[in-house]
Amino acid sequence: MKLTVKPLKQKDAGRGLAAIDRVSMRELDLENGDYIVISGGGDSQAVARVWPGYPEDEGRGIVRIDGRLRQEAGVGIDDSVTIEQADVKPAKSVTVALPQNLRIRGDIGPLVRDKLSGQAVTEGQTVPFSLSFGPMASSGQSVPLKIASTTPGGTVVITDSTSIELSETPAEQVGAGGDASAEGVPNVTYEDIGGLDNELDQVREMIELPMRHPELFQQLGIEPPKGVLLHGPPGTGKTLMAKAVANEIDAHFETISGPEIMSKYYGESEEQLREVFEEAEENAPAIIFIDELDSIAAKREEAGGDVERRVVAQLLSLMDGLEERGRVTVIAATNRVDDIDPALRRGGRFDREIEIGVPDKDGRREILQVHTRGMPLEESIDLEHYAANTHGFVGADLESLARESAMNALRRIRPDLDLESQEIDADVLESLQVTEGDLKDALKG
Ligand code: ADP
Repeated sequence: MKLTVKPLKQKDAGRGLAAIDRVSMRELDLENGDYIVISGGGDSQAVARVWPGYPEDEGRGIVRIDGRLRQEAGVGIDDSVTIEQADVKPAKSVTVALPQNLRIRGDIGPLVRDKLSGQAVTEGQTVPFSLSFGPMASSGQSVPLKIASTTPGGTVVITDSTSIELSETPAEQVGAGGDASAEGVPNVTYEDIGGLDNELDQVREMIELPMRHPELFQQLGIEPPKGVLLHGPPGTGKTLMAKAVANEIDAHFETISGPEIMSKYYGESEEQLREVFEEAEENAPAIIFIDELDSIAAKREEAGGDVERRVVAQLLSLMDGLEERGRVTVIAATNRVDDIDPALRRGGRFDREIEIGVPDKDGRREILQVHTRGMPLEESIDLEHYAANTHGFVGADLESLARESAMNALRRIRPDLDLESQEIDADVLESLQVTEGDLKDALKG
């Protein structure tokens, strides 16, 4: 029996879980807490821990896994996968490596064990380790932790009695590279985006489907879109979405900042644009993300200048020149959709538009879940309450709210802490807890 892959809910990502509904669990003879191998038919596979699915999945034959597991299994959303019992042993000891620029003073073993407890790991694998603050962890984001070695070998489960050692060698130098996050591919996943389910479905249908299954589109004789325009207020997740799509399909990612290309590269704007398109075509499948398209391609009557006219003409010709197989797609973002040169919004260019609005209460709750996912939140905190009290907040505001709360927690236990310091105390990390008061203070600003 095959199951269909779907994303996990935001709050449940990053823990190595495979949510399978109870009916399918019974049919597959699986129990809560079993370890399974998920495989999409190719060489890659992922090991996950079974967890009863969400009530609404009952009987739908769905397995929900997060972006990291999808990547390891080499599958995307809506693919079918086979599931088998995994052969795992409890880990006696596991040596982990941290990224070079993250230095921890003291014994980080207990913290790592606590966060990874119950997860199945294999030597060479990179697993997310959530730190709520620090030089490279923005809120809710995690630090890539590399599994340098395990005893015994093979796939092992981290338990309460596993001893965790810290490798002397930084993660970057452990193993033969082959990292899941290949160069040029961002590592944002769909679970990092809150409140935009419908919008994501649309983006996936327009971009992910043609890129992953070009043959379908050829067969049907429909042309995949070359450009998609995301419009809405700043900080609502447009960039995040473009990165997530690129990551999910393992596509190369190129960014063009509208204002930058017009000012920093003044006089070379057209050349710059051409180079980015060239780079993308060489590395296809690729996504080109143009931020603030309005600053490049404002309506001509307003743009006035010769330079602007030439840059728009160049962009039009580059898009017209893209091959029609959907191997390179341009995603552009703007918060002033009405100012965009209409020539760019016509057929064969940015002819698909998706509005990314300000999130509602449920959206705000999901976004808060994303950004507090890795945080040691005090038990009594009800994110629903904060979602209800942040009307008008966009994703970027909610991210700062979460980050500020973590900072407040940090200042509370270490008033003298140097936030810029590259070195973090393991004891501080371990005793950190974000309380109701930290969140309230952050909300007051
Ligand atoms: P935009 O491109 O729409 O201006 P971004 O995608 O750059 O906005 O968002 C900025 C930051 O705000 C993101 O990196 C993320 O941390 C947070 N953010 C914005 N929207 C969302 C969202 N829908 N879900 C989760 N985080 C979000």
